[in-house]
Amino acid sequence: AKSSGRGCFHYFTPGMRASIQNRITLINDLRNAISNQELSLVYQPIFEISSQKIYKAEALLRWHHPSRGMISPTDFIPLAEESGLIIEIGDWVFEQACLQVAKWRRQYADNFQISINTSPLQYRSNTDSPADWLAWLAKHRLDAGALTLEITENLMMTDYDKINQRLAQLRQSGMEISIDDFGTGYSSLSYLKKFHIDYLKIDKSFVQKMSKDSDDLIICEAMVVMANKLGIKVIAEGIESTEQMQLLKDMGCQYGQGYWLAKPLTVEQFETLLGSNTRY
Ligand code: C2E
Ligand code: CA
Ligand code: CA
Ligand code: CA
Repeated sequence: AKSSGRGCFHYFTPGMRASIQNRITLINDLRNAISNQELSLVYQPIFEISSQKIYKAEALLRWHHPSRGMISPTDFIPLAEESGLIIEIGDWVFEQACLQVAKWRRQYADNFQISINTSPLQYRSNTDSPADWLAWLAKHRLDAGALTLEITENLMMTDYDKINQRLAQLRQSGMEISIDDFGTGYSSLSYLKKFHIDYLKIDKSFVQKMSKDSDDLIICEAMVVMANKLGIKVIAEGIESTEQMQLLKDMGCQYGQGYWLAKPLTVEQFETLLGSNTRY
């Protein structure tokens, strides 16, 4: 929201000015983060709720800043979007996740899948990213079906036709599409009709209030029923308790993710878990 700033610098307090300087410094650092090998991916398992077996994995980006330590994606993804670096970073995430899933397919299960988070900016008309991904997959002889693309619904509004067209093309190649943070955007229900999607992820804010607030419980239940009827798979995010797990099971939610099941894991930790707990 503060990014509307450039022309009206004088409106900012000295504190805010420092934070703008801070952002500029961080963006410059981020520019070199890939080549300096400061970025990495961790993987949070997505479980089948009924069996509590690993179903697939979501890749989550980490930035180990040389002097500031770990910076959360919630803080640096907006900077990457603002600066345009999201394209390069997003391509890096795509390639890393593809190489990882290919390895896990060889080692554990030939139908394993990884979900990656993507920004709507990666599908805009001013970038060739989606076409580059398909070319890259072909070059490395990797199966597009190994990937799921997560996209947040609230930003899908802008450049709608282009984004929809590109998502349709990627889906045709075999990738699956997932709407992230479902329920938090503006017109959730209309997206389900307009976009052909494979998954919706119920935002963790609903899951976390479910046991305390009966309205949130009803909303969750309605999302699950609706998705099931539309043939869309549902993943509940942010499961932190046995009680939430039970409520989701009772309402027929098939898949779940959250600290109660497993935190985001390093590749090594994930492999240890895959060896012992898998539906394959
Ligand atoms: P998200 O896609 O909604 O990812 C879920 C976030 O919730 C992750 O935070 C995850 O670590 C956290 N989480 C998982 N289980 C629980 C739980 O039980 N309780 C709570 N409170 N949190 C839980 P993380 O890794 O910090 O990522 C934050 C956001 O940054 C992501 O939200 C996603 O929007 C964005 N992000 C992460 N990696 C990427 C990426 O490679 N590309 C893009 N464009 N965005 C990314
Ligand atoms: Ca996500
Ligand atoms: Ca989410
Ligand atoms: Ca999010």
